[in-house]
Amino acid sequence: MVDAKQGLSVLGSLNMDLVVRARRLPRPGETLAGGPFQTFHGGKGGNQAVAAARLGASVAMVGRVGDDAYGAELRRGLAAEGVGDAEVRPVPGCPSGVALITVDDAGENTIVVTPGANAWLLPQDLAPESGAARAIQEAAWLIAQLEVPLDTVLQAARLAHAAGTRFLLNAAPASQLPEALLSLIDVLVVNRVEAAAVLERSRVGAPSGLARALRRLGPRAAAVTLGDQGALFCDGARVLRQDAFAVETVDAVGAGDAFTAALAVALLESQAPAEALCFACAAGALATTRAGARTSLPRRAEVDALLRR
Ligand code: ADP
Repeated sequence: MVDAKQGLSVLGSLNMDLVVRARRLPRPGETLAGGPFQTFHGGKGGNQAVAAARLGASVAMVGRVGDDAYGAELRRGLAAEGVGDAEVRPVPGCPSGVALITVDDAGENTIVVTPGANAWLLPQDLAPESGAARAIQEAAWLIAQLEVPLDTVLQAARLAHAAGTRFLLNAAPASQLPEALLSLIDVLVVNRVEAAAVLERSRVGAPSGLARALRRLGPRAAAVTLGDQGALFCDGARVLRQDAFAVETVDAVGAGDAFTAALAVALLESQAPAEALCFACAAGALATTRAGARTSLPRRAEVDALLRR
């Protein structure tokens, strides 16, 4: 067993987001002249790894990119943020994960996501003695989401459990979770839609009941994000509630990633649950004050300043 476990490992997705603006969305079969085109580094895994690094944590990422130009660029993007990318490997003959996004003048969008190399992060890639397994075993906390194969997430959770690495799962996008995985989770992070999926309900009731119900499924603790209503955290008998910070919101893209990463960083720093929840809500709020996902993720000094305010 590694005695000085430290830092975070993030197992998850990396995508290149290709965004084109157009006056309106195209109809089937139609070719439209578009406006400006931009590329953004994305994927929940990459976003959360970068968010945690910006908040001051030492972060190693485990993931897959394509053996294409996007893959190389995605890795450079992680390295530039100080995220360890040794276990972000290119998959031969496979394209990188890509999101094709069209945004119209009213802000309405269409999005097609193709997982590409993310689908090739397989359980056998976490074999004993592998670099990826070591990255998980040596970390104090592992964060994962659901944009890579579920079997791989489960394998990572088992490795973490056996090594005494604590495991935070952001169960996004919304999906049901097998019992075997639920029982290995130290902290489950979901929004209301994801909570309903995990609880296998079409509608969810009062928020405080939600956090308790999720925890009863197996996780040691559950956090529920409620957008501009803040968030809840339940780690036993009590449910902690944190109101949202009042900020000038531009868009909510990236808020969930900022919240998740910040909660993990705070718990890594041994902050008490109420303090950690407050820290995570501050990071989520700041992410809403700037457009986009990766671009909106706040730095530590900004979060500390908002908390002092
Ligand atoms: P997701 O994007 O995953 O649905 P949420 O929208 O619930 O996540 O946002 C995550 C967290 O970010 C919230 O719990 C809240 O603390 C913060 N947040 C989100 N929207 C706002 C907002 N409009 N104002 C202030 N904070 C917000």
